[in-house]
Amino acid sequence: MAGGTEGFRQPLAHLRFPLERARGRRYPEFSHPYRNDFQRDRDRIVHARAFRRLEDKTQVFSSSFSDHFRNRLTHTLEVSQISRTVAAALGLNTDFTEALALAHDIGHPPFAHSGEVELNRLMQRFGERFEHNTHALRIVESFETRYARFPGLNLTFEVREGIVKHSRDLEPGCDPLLAGYLPGFRPPLEAQLIDLCDEAAYNAADFDDAFDAGMIRIEDAQAAIGKFAELWDDAEGMFPGASERIRMHEVVRALINVMVTGLMDGTVAAAGSLADLDAVRSAPRIAVLTPEAAQCSREMKAFLRSHVYLSKEVRGATEAAVRRMEGLFDFFMDRPDVLPEAYREQAAAEPLHRQVCDYIAGMTDGFFLRTCDQLGL
Ligand code: MG
Repeated sequence: MAGGTEGFRQPLAHLRFPLERARGRRYPEFSHPYRNDFQRDRDRIVHARAFRRLEDKTQVFSSSFSDHFRNRLTHTLEVSQISRTVAAALGLNTDFTEALALAHDIGHPPFAHSGEVELNRLMQRFGERFEHNTHALRIVESFETRYARFPGLNLTFEVREGIVKHSRDLEPGCDPLLAGYLPGFRPPLEAQLIDLCDEAAYNAADFDDAFDAGMIRIEDAQAAIGKFAELWDDAEGMFPGASERIRMHEVVRALINVMVTGLMDGTVAAAGSLADLDAVRSAPRIAVLTPEAAQCSREMKAFLRSHVYLSKEVRGATEAAVRRMEGLFDFFMDRPDVLPEAYREQAAAEPLHRQVCDYIAGMTDGFFLRTCDQLGL
């Protein structure tokens, strides 16, 4: 089995984002007596409506499969737990990392990746696009209305920057909405980690759920994923009397360990002699997997893609819903009066197609289906 993190003695503490370097909030606020700014951001995200809606948004398997499978909320909690562990072991800012992990999927539209692809396609008809990280920024900047003194959640600059940059770099000349987030510079290391923690979490979780759904044959996984074959042999040797299901739990746990330890080792190696936050911002991304962990992750992704994400069962469950999206979009374009009045007032500065797109993107899977049913679409 892969080793734990005992060897990690906060080797990247010198690259930790220093709270005193935070650029602060758009609207100045008094400091809190016992929570720092990143802890407050984390709490604001947890208390947001968009966060609660993750409970009824598909991760991979829609709720028709099983009550036990991940949805986007439980996936988010797994990413948050993994990111905190990694940040703490490396000596980084755990509060900052946790806030970003909890926010990383709040911009996801209903029905997972297929929902995002379809919404983007519908927006292209107007020469625009839909992208979930930009949408997440709009949620925390304006759609959440919980404060008397400002719109949105008034999060720190760094958390907003991390929301738009955790999974991609911004280059000069990017979307004007994002131009204030230091295009050309990498985000702090705490934000760079999120994408790979997300990957470790979903590779393991999707594999686990797919096995429970009866979609994975052990022999196929052994043939396709070298690390799986090795860990399965280990588990058979160590627990000869254990059921296949328990053995799978042992292996999935070990696979998370491989990817997470590989992320920490790879990042420490890539950080090399970088001295501080400014060096992190100017260097290429340093959150990377070791070659061994990267191979494991690549093989798992390819296997999940062919056996799970592109399977008839998984696609069938979301595609029927996603096919209704165009009808719903066009319905609201023709009949904007049907959109809730409070929402229309709030979004009045946006062109109608953006209002419609944002409204649909905010829907849970359940609300989307109920709305289509009610409108006879
Ligand atoms: Mg995610």
